[in-house]
Amino acid sequence: MAQVDEQLQDLFSEVVARNPGEQEFHQAVREVFDSLAPVVARHPHYADLAVIQRLCEPERQIIFRVPWVDDTGQVQINRGFRVEFNSALGPYKGGLRFHPSVYLGIVKFLGFEQIFKNALTGLPIGGGKGGSDFDPKGRSDAEVMRFCQSFMTELYRHVGEYTDVPAGDIGVGGREIGYLFGQYKRITNRYESGVLTGKGLAWGGSQVRTEATGYGLVFFVDEMLRANGQSFDGRRVSVSGSGNVAIYAIEKVTALGGTVVACSDSSGYLVDEDGIDLDLLKDVKLNRRERIDAYVAERGGKARLGTAGSIWHVPVDVALPCATQNELSDSDAAALIANGCRVVAEGANMPCTPEAVKAFDAAGVLFAPGKAANAGGVATSALEMQQNASRDSWSFEYTEGRLAEIMRGIHDRCLRTADEYGDPGNYVQGANISGFVHVADAMLALGV
Ligand code: GLU
Repeated sequence: MAQVDEQLQDLFSEVVARNPGEQEFHQAVREVFDSLAPVVARHPHYADLAVIQRLCEPERQIIFRVPWVDDTGQVQINRGFRVEFNSALGPYKGGLRFHPSVYLGIVKFLGFEQIFKNALTGLPIGGGKGGSDFDPKGRSDAEVMRFCQSFMTELYRHVGEYTDVPAGDIGVGGREIGYLFGQYKRITNRYESGVLTGKGLAWGGSQVRTEATGYGLVFFVDEMLRANGQSFDGRRVSVSGSGNVAIYAIEKVTALGGTVVACSDSSGYLVDEDGIDLDLLKDVKLNRRERIDAYVAERGGKARLGTAGSIWHVPVDVALPCATQNELSDSDAAALIANGCRVVAEGANMPCTPEAVKAFDAAGVLFAPGKAANAGGVATSALEMQQNASRDSWSFEYTEGRLAEIMRGIHDRCLRTADEYGDPGNYVQGANISGFVHVADAMLALGV
């Protein structure tokens, strides 16, 4: 085993040297490599056949200029990215993120995670990711439309229902997917519904896609609790973020009998001991696109803005980080553990730092990594692709049932794999190993 550890360490150093300055990508790769020793020890051919090195090198990386005209008539230039990481299991699949923090290292970390996440769903989708450093905050609807049209004016030549199928991520929701799809249709003169997912219900979208990541996360946690003889009933829960993932996680936790006592956005966090008023939160965040202080002002005496530390200092049984990468640090983890938190599951991609994950593991906190727990979004995207391909449209109930079944499948696959490789109950090991073996076997079957 020591020899295998050394081999993986050398491979990791190679990845860092080949991709300088891309910290988030290094972090995502390290996290998977940390799980691979038992697999490589048992099946040395994975290392011998260089499949691990191949996995770390994207099949294609596209970087492009996105020029657009703002409302004052000024020309603005942003940078667009699409990293087509791995297509062993199906067309590249993964979201687009519009956020000022986006650069190649962020897109590669997200694309790398996506490979394993998509494999875990058991559905035929490869891994990819894209986005731009465009900041939609404060931009008018017309500016967002012009930006999306310019973005697709380049992206259209790289995507297609059998090639690469983008969707949303941070900063990209139904509105943006609409503008992107409109431009694709205009340029290609094809109503190719399957080229994008997260579409509107009136024009090729799927029921439950908007809710899917949040609902799927809660279905996954429900399985974790059940596997330990527990349930959501009466549990106190905190959920960071206030996009689609967080809002629909809050909705499903509440439906299953839990109470969400804290949530957040980029301006801070709020505590509402009576449980979040979901209609008000949806109105403030989704319709009006305002900050959470508007929620506190309108909710009256029941809610307050958090003052000390972060949302993770609020005592809860279950914590669901659903905002962004590295939002939960080791000191946050220490606060959660000290206050009795027993379950943490990632709704965002890589929201917990490696030190935080280590702290949860040492304290015996049940921990689910994003590539397993938040896979419901992309899984429902794959269901949207199925409906588009068969020119069909499923009911909400049927689609939600399929989502629940897929999340149960991922949960069980993680536990079974963790067991098989000698680390029972370790969802990180289970997710990484199961995802890796699935993709690596397909890559080997397809040849170099
Ligand atoms: N952006 C989401 C994720 O991180 C969904 C991607 C998709 O639906 O393709 O998995």
